[in-house]
Amino acid sequence: MKERTLLLLKPDAVQRGLIGEIVLRFERKGFKIVGLKMLKMTKELAREHYAHLVSKPFYPDLEKFVTENPIIAVAIEGKEAVEVTRTIVGPTNASKAPAGTIRGDFSNSTSRNVIHASDSKETAAKEIPRFFKPHELYDYSMNVEPFLCASDE
Ligand code: UDP
Ligand code: MG
Repeated sequence: MKERTLLLLKPDAVQRGLIGEIVLRFERKGFKIVGLKMLKMTKELAREHYAHLVSKPFYPDLEKFVTENPIIAVAIEGKEAVEVTRTIVGPTNASKAPAGTIRGDFSNSTSRNVIHASDSKETAAKEIPRFFKPHELYDYSMNVEPFLCASDE
C-alpha cells in the first residue's frame, strides 16, 4: 500500500471557508483522498492527539480552540505522503511559514494555523485510525498517470 497520512483542517479553516482551498492543494499535487469527514473533537480526543503538549501552558487554549467547533479530517495517500504534506503545510509558526505553504498563505499565528499534518510515518500510522474507522477509508483507482511515472509507483 502507498504511504498514507492524516490531515486535520482545524476549526479556523472551517470557519474561514478554506476547506476547498486547502483540500485543492493536495489534490493538485497528485494525492488521493482516501477518507474525508467532518467531526467535532472531544476533549478526550484532543488530549490523546496533543498528548505531547498537554503539559504546556498554552494547552488549555489549544484544547478549547480544537474542541469548540467542527474540523475536517482527511486521509490522503501518495508518494512520500508524510514528508511532502509537511512541506505543503509549512512550519508550526505561521508567521515564519514561507509564502506558498498553506500556513504561510492563510495564517499568521502559531496556534490558529489552519491545518494539522502527521509528522512521521509512525505518527501517521497512529493518527489515521484515531480519526477513521477501517470502513471509512477507501481503496479506489484514480488516473494518476499525468502526475507519476512507473518508477514512482
Ligand atoms: N501550538 C500552539 N502554540 C505553540 C505550539 C503549538 O498553540 O507554541 C499548537 C498549534 O496549533 C500546533 C499544535 O499546537 O499546530 C501542535 O503543535 P506541534 O508542535 O505538534 O506542531 P505542528 O506539528 O502542528 O506543526
Ligand atoms: Mg505535530
